Amino acid sequence: MLFERTFDNCCALNFPTVREWKQSHPGGKVIACFPVYAPVELIHAAGMLPVGLSGAGDRLDIQHADARFGSFICSIVKTTLEMGMAGHLDPFDGFLFSTICDSARNLCFVMKRNFPKMYVDFLHLPHNPSSPAAAQFLAEEYRRILTELERLGGKADDAAVRHSIGLYNRNRALIRELYQLRTRAPQQVPTSELYQLIRLGSFLAVEEHTAQLETALAEFRSRTAKLRDSIRIVVEGSFCEQPPLTLIRLIEDAGCYIVDDDLVIGQSWFESDVPTEGDPLLALARSYLDHSVYSSVRHDFRKPRWDGLVDKVRRNRADAVLFLIAKFCEPAYFDYVPYKQELERAGIPHLQLEFEEKSFTFDRLRTEIETFVESLVFD
Ligand code: SF4
Repeated sequence: MLFERTFDNCCALNFPTVREWKQSHPGGKVIACFPVYAPVELIHAAGMLPVGLSGAGDRLDIQHADARFGSFICSIVKTTLEMGMAGHLDPFDGFLFSTICDSARNLCFVMKRNFPKMYVDFLHLPHNPSSPAAAQFLAEEYRRILTELERLGGKADDAAVRHSIGLYNRNRALIRELYQLRTRAPQQVPTSELYQLIRLGSFLAVEEHTAQLETALAEFRSRTAKLRDSIRIVVEGSFCEQPPLTLIRLIEDAGCYIVDDDLVIGQSWFESDVPTEGDPLLALARSYLDHSVYSSVRHDFRKPRWDGLVDKVRRNRADAVLFLIAKFCEPAYFDYVPYKQELERAGIPHLQLEFEEKSFTFDRLRTEIETFVESLVFD
């Protein structure tokens, strides 16, 4: 693949791309955003680099975090705190969390207590999107966050926010094009490659990542690859803690084309461009409420998530759903029940597997996936 920077390098614990960015932007500040969604446009508009935190994978042994969290907590929460306590997050100047689950909420305040000199903020996303006050509430919450960011970075007027929205719109439009190409021709766009490409965006400036997406799109389009006799699946449940890359490769090698997924979903959160006219904070808020993907970490009973999953399966002409759920991820496990019920009503086969970001042996998972694939191929 033609990435200028390798995935492994970007994910390294010393955050080399962040250090490079700081060297080329003397005095520049970097804000780490915990998954799933963050209004990165505001950070960019204030002259700072937003970076997506995605845990430490298998690159870190837990020595401090176990003493601060109970045992039934997902790995990403523990490795994020551990990275902080071991000094790996030193290149960052602030942390942004949001209302995705109790574990993330607690992590925010544990970080605040352990790093009192650091800017640590918690974004309150609306819980009742059908309320007429929701858009204004969220726009005001964005205004509050932006004011804090301006203290740390620089002034961000409406024109600057609109400019940043435009840059991220282009980035997300390219990701949508790549996803559409994968649905049409999954043999040309393996998810193990696409995932790395999209996740690079967590570590790079948006301008640099967009250039990489443009190059990759052209390269994927020009590829010739023979269609294998594989089943088409949707991967659901990996919206926060990320599965090891080896596991994604294993799923493909076991005879699956992943034709849609919710991996690093924050980077393709909006289904269409955020308007760049009018009040940019209100535009971001309205897009969050009305033009974003469904997710287990947001409740919107105007558009039930289980309907969204069935629609995703049909839109992508998928044969089945693979639930890939991080161990102890409450939002994913809570949703598994209604998802399963709806898939069964619709006659869509599914398999549920559990992973941890630090997993390194996959023999049992390989057997389960291969058996599932065989059951569909020889049905
Ligand atoms: S993996 Fe699940 S439980 Fe853990 S922080 Fe993310 S959403 Fe919360």
